[in-house]
Amino acid sequence: MCGIVGYIGNKKAYPILIKGLSRLEYRGYDSAGVALLEDGKLNVFKRQGKVLDLTNFVADNPTNGTVGIGHTRWATHGLPNDINAHPHTSGDGSITLVHNGIIENYDILKKELIKRGHVFKSETDTEVLVHLIEDIKEKSGASLAESVRIALNEVHGAYAIVVISPEEPNKIIAAKKSSPLVIGMGEDEYYLASDATPIIEYTKNVVYLEDEQIAIIDRYNGLRIFSISNKEVSPYVQELEMQLEELEKGGYEHFMLKEIYEQPRAIHDSFRGRLNAKEGWVSLGGIKDYEDQIAKANRIIIIACGTSWHAALVAEYYFEDLARIPVEVEYASEFRYRNPIIRKDDVVIAISQSGETADTLAALKMAKEQGATLLGIVNVVGSTISRVTDAGSYTHAGPEIGVASTKAFTTQLVLLAMMALSIGKKRGTIEDKKFQTLLDEMEALPSKIEQLLKSDDYIREVSAIYKDAPNALYLGRGSSFPIALEGALKLKEISYIHAEGYPAAEMKHGPIALIDENMPVFVIATQGQNYEKVVSNIQEVKARKGKLIAIVSKGDTTVREIADHVIEIPNSDEFVVPILATIPFQLISYHIAVMRECNVDQPRNLAKSVTVE
Ligand code: GLU
Repeated sequence: MCGIVGYIGNKKAYPILIKGLSRLEYRGYDSAGVALLEDGKLNVFKRQGKVLDLTNFVADNPTNGTVGIGHTRWATHGLPNDINAHPHTSGDGSITLVHNGIIENYDILKKELIKRGHVFKSETDTEVLVHLIEDIKEKSGASLAESVRIALNEVHGAYAIVVISPEEPNKIIAAKKSSPLVIGMGEDEYYLASDATPIIEYTKNVVYLEDEQIAIIDRYNGLRIFSISNKEVSPYVQELEMQLEELEKGGYEHFMLKEIYEQPRAIHDSFRGRLNAKEGWVSLGGIKDYEDQIAKANRIIIIACGTSWHAALVAEYYFEDLARIPVEVEYASEFRYRNPIIRKDDVVIAISQSGETADTLAALKMAKEQGATLLGIVNVVGSTISRVTDAGSYTHAGPEIGVASTKAFTTQLVLLAMMALSIGKKRGTIEDKKFQTLLDEMEALPSKIEQLLKSDDYIREVSAIYKDAPNALYLGRGSSFPIALEGALKLKEISYIHAEGYPAAEMKHGPIALIDENMPVFVIATQGQNYEKVVSNIQEVKARKGKLIAIVSKGDTTVREIADHVIEIPNSDEFVVPILATIPFQLISYHIAVMRECNVDQPRNLAKSVTVE
């Protein structure tokens, strides 16, 4: 994944790069590094660990340059150590670069370069690229930009790169394909970053580089953009909507907790202008022109990864129940390599918080080639998925910094619910009375979540009891089954406790063998059509002495008698239960992770935006 930054202007680059890297640390934190040009000299500092480790390492070294690049790594090729950290520098020390992505043909290129006398220091694919540029530059005598362009025509895979050279000290060269890169346009200065968060406090004017484009930024002559086939294109400058305050912790101990507490506001923002229960309508502006096509769809295919895939599973219940359109939910990484059958009257919906998920993007491209209609549900405005799809809707959750997704997930759910409601209405597959009830239920969500968050102290007490459990089981039925999967994923991600989610009825086909007096079993047992069945499943757990923590509807007495602990959610139609039941699971994982002294916002081995395959 990696976060990359760059700066050229009149200010000292180092503090800008470090601040930018801290903002991008959610993308990877295996190592960090910077390269600065100062008085015709190149200074490279890199270190395994976090950005803070890098700053301690740099300490009093010279950092006065006004041109520089930086990187925070999520390793794909080679261990997370000092040597594999970026920037990577050519053998003669004349070129250095940072890279986000994977050079897929690095092995072949490396062998050829070794034959030509190049000596490699690291195990990364990235180092091959810098040697290749050096090789081309040396042989052809071309400029840095031209050598980068020729080299990029030889590589396969994904890249966002930023390159500098002491031989051309007033320039930064950048390029991208499948990994994101944004250029901030200041007054006689330019910022580069993987997303806009490092740029926002300096300028709101940005250019999103497109795939296979190269940007040449010259301190004196400004920005020029070329395609890798060497055609000049004029930069399209856009204005950012993000606010700086949205990127700060605002008094919370962790971003994750802040983001959990932001959910009433985030969901409210998702509704704005799209749902009005009093007037009885729901309308998603972003897909308005495609509503007929969706209503006539032969099938809806939803592609996603991770938490977004869980949102897709809930949406399967929503669309099939309300709009009576068959739905298939696919892991993007499997779908793209399976030679699936996609028809012109299929609607493909991609869900991704970042809008940059590499597998989801590749799956979308494949569906596009086969003529399907593509819709996107993303959080990051202007992200690649939002640009390659025919239409779509933003979740409007605001920037999500915690690596474990919380508000992005619940806003995906409300968006998918709104989409299913509006398509169901159009197809005439929802009765008017039910439609109105569900609109009311949706509109009540922000205040119900506020109420639910008031149980946080109790949820923390319950969490404390299970903080040392080595394993956990999560159960749910119907549209709450994907929430069991999500609850288990959240616990795994941030507290490193092994957890599994199961449809409650499936438990007896295997996982029941794991249940003993040490196994916490988290179960969603709210009122609804599956209630009695779930109660039977709960009895089965109890009979094997499992510890039961049940999410129940307010006032429930039956489950209260059986379970060890109950967490009440406000009484609601089961349509919105998946959204409400998510909140206690988020809080449980959060508290357990904090009690286990885990790094909640930056769990080990993970990164937020998965821009590699
Ligand atoms: N492939 C590069 C490395 O392992 C960059 C990884 C990435 O962008 O995630 O260093």
